[in-house]
Amino acid sequence: MVLTWDQDPRELYPGIKIGESVRSLVSDQLIEHTDEIRSREGEFPEANIRALADCGLLGMKTPPEYGGLGLDTLNVTYAIEQIARVAPATAFVLLLHTLTCNRLAGAGTEEQKRKYLPRISCETLGASAWSESGVGADKSVLNTKAYRENGVWHLSGQKAFCTGAGHAGVYMVMTDTTEGKGFFLVADDNPALRIGAPMDSMGLQGTHSGALSLDNALVPDSDRVGEPGQIGPIINLDMQSGLHSGIVATGIALGTFGRLLDIVKANNSFEKYESVRVRVSQLASSLSVMRTHAYALAAMASLPAQSRPPTEAATMSAKLFLSESALQMTTDAIAIAGKSGYLRENGLERLHRDALGIVIAAPINGQILGSIGESLRQTDRSSHLYKV
Ligand SMILES: Cc1cc2nc3c(=O)[nH]c(=O)nc-3n(C[C@H](O)[C@H](O)[C@H](O)COP(=O)(O)OP(=O)(O)OC[C@H]3O[C@@H](n4cnc5c(N)ncnc54)[C@H](O)[C@@H]3O)c2cc1C
Repeated sequence: MVLTWDQDPRELYPGIKIGESVRSLVSDQLIEHTDEIRSREGEFPEANIRALADCGLLGMKTPPEYGGLGLDTLNVTYAIEQIARVAPATAFVLLLHTLTCNRLAGAGTEEQKRKYLPRISCETLGASAWSESGVGADKSVLNTKAYRENGVWHLSGQKAFCTGAGHAGVYMVMTDTTEGKGFFLVADDNPALRIGAPMDSMGLQGTHSGALSLDNALVPDSDRVGEPGQIGPIINLDMQSGLHSGIVATGIALGTFGRLLDIVKANNSFEKYESVRVRVSQLASSLSVMRTHAYALAAMASLPAQSRPPTEAATMSAKLFLSESALQMTTDAIAIAGKSGYLRENGLERLHRDALGIVIAAPINGQILGSIGESLRQTDRSSHLYKV
């Protein structure tokens, strides 16, 4: 199915059930990416996250028995795209939170699901602390270590770039153990957890992606997720879900296009110059391809398990394609808008910086290209993304 640049996806995908609540949230409640909040760009979007919690969107993908809405990827894609159109940082926090919930729902024990999911699906955020200052895509050696003594794990080390650091109720922390990589749930009230300042990043500043440190944090064995040395399948749940930051990029592209159209109509260049109309039309057609791609993958990932094709490789290439396309669109939009686009007050410059953040966010695009190259070399179409 092919979506046009401004089409409401509900016309083609009647399975999208949360359309009305997302639309009213976006138009009435979310604090927009507007000129008024430009000076507060680095603030965490607390009010937006509260609004998401109030309408149940923190638990979009969490099964109802653990307090969530149990929605499929198509509905989650719609919500994230529409939220990103006006508030990219909010949408990015929501995406990473939803992936954390999805991993816990897919790989947690019954006790962990009952203990954590209702809380992070209704009240507060879940976050993932994997990266470190010297550790990006290649996680073969982590500085954060965990060892077990009398049934209790001791975690020490420093994490970096954790989205929502200081605002989450639980952190899914990746460490090295003597048996390989492990995942542990560290609650925000753990006395050995310290939250650092958010990174001074170019874009997506409101995500408060920041540092946290663990200084001999004690974690009961019951809060270990999966077996140490066997966390690959847990990480793979992200790619199997069909959820990826390219959806946020698609929302950024939608927001960018809307702003560009306003600018070129207001300064009359759209009316005056054929070339402006052609360039804007080219962006409209790019947006149509982006949205068609994003929703086709979401629909595929929402099929019943028995009829669903593997989605890992498709999710990865969608992240690559959509984030690169959004970055290109924000660059072109600024160039077409002229000085109005170049001036920070019109917001296009900020969307450009936000789009670049998505290119770098995991899986970083170079890593995806490396993985595609590896699968082509091996004539194997599956994903070679994560080796842990
Ligand atoms: C907005 C934002 C939010 C983030 N949120 C989180 C979070 O919540 N939790 C968290 O743990 N981390 C988070 N991160 C960190 C993110 O996961 C890392 O930035 C990402 O893994 C890439 O790591 P790196 O930037 O250190 O680059 P590196 O991995 O050091 O890459 C350096 C260069 O090598 C290329 N490269 C890397 N691997 C390969 C490969 N296999 N083949 C070919 N080329 C390759 C890259 O493309 C890049 O050009 C966030 C990052 C951003 C930008």
